[in-house]
Amino acid sequence: MIKHDGHIHSYYCPHGSSDSFAQYCEQAIQKGLTGITFTEHAPLPKGFIDPTPTMDSAMDERHLTSYIEELQAIKSYYKSKLNVLIGLEIDFVEGFELETNQFLNTYGPFLDDSILSVHFLKIEDIYYCMDYSPDTFKTCSDLLGSVDHVYQLYYETLKKSVQTNLGTFKPTRIGHITLCEKFQKKYPATKSYRQDIQTILSLIHQMGYQLDYNGAGTLKPLCGLTYPPAEIAEAASEMGIPLVYGSDAHQVKGMFSGVDMLSTNQSLSSP
Ligand SMILES: [Zn+2]
Ligand SMILES: [Zn+2]
Repeated sequence: MIKHDGHIHSYYCPHGSSDSFAQYCEQAIQKGLTGITFTEHAPLPKGFIDPTPTMDSAMDERHLTSYIEELQAIKSYYKSKLNVLIGLEIDFVEGFELETNQFLNTYGPFLDDSILSVHFLKIEDIYYCMDYSPDTFKTCSDLLGSVDHVYQLYYETLKKSVQTNLGTFKPTRIGHITLCEKFQKKYPATKSYRQDIQTILSLIHQMGYQLDYNGAGTLKPLCGLTYPPAEIAEAASEMGIPLVYGSDAHQVKGMFSGVDMLSTNQSLSSP
């Protein structure tokens, strides 16, 4: 039973919809949730140039203050009906750890609950948004030599994201840990990465972090899976890692994505 949706985007997202904060909140209340976290894509680290053709991966830093202020008002308005948490989805970009740490030092004090995710892979000093499109994924695969190499680099980068010290305000929830499977029906790996994932889960457990149990992949035609799939979620849960459901909705319609595919063998946590 889902009580909290810990991964929701907003109209501050340049690749999102214009649905308002209030619309998400009303939907959450109507469906019986007790809380939600807005986790807009944080501004990319200073000096990092968004490699996507549309350059719309994240919100502009100029809008951050109004994002936080608007959410503070929403939070207090819904106080008695819904626990609205203010958060961001922070990108871990290899090579920009310092900038990310500085960003978190500045804005972390205003955040209740955040997610750390890997979307960008560094290949020979150039960055690629691995999950932007099947074509971008293919480019990564061509550059690295195979689809397996993309998976491998993704899990290596993810592992670094868990281990890297990003300061006091580092997010404590790791986003969609199997995002490399977003296009798996078109670009499947030939080997299992279960062992790499297990190592990462152990690190997550050691650090006392939570896992984003993300439904968005179920809506992607080339994926059809939750991030992570049920058997990995179960393994994580057995280890004592709290699973926090995340719809990763970019519009109100996307809330409750994948709920029918979540493993029911373990309980979901609130942040
Ligand atoms: Zn997004
Ligand atoms: Zn994400």
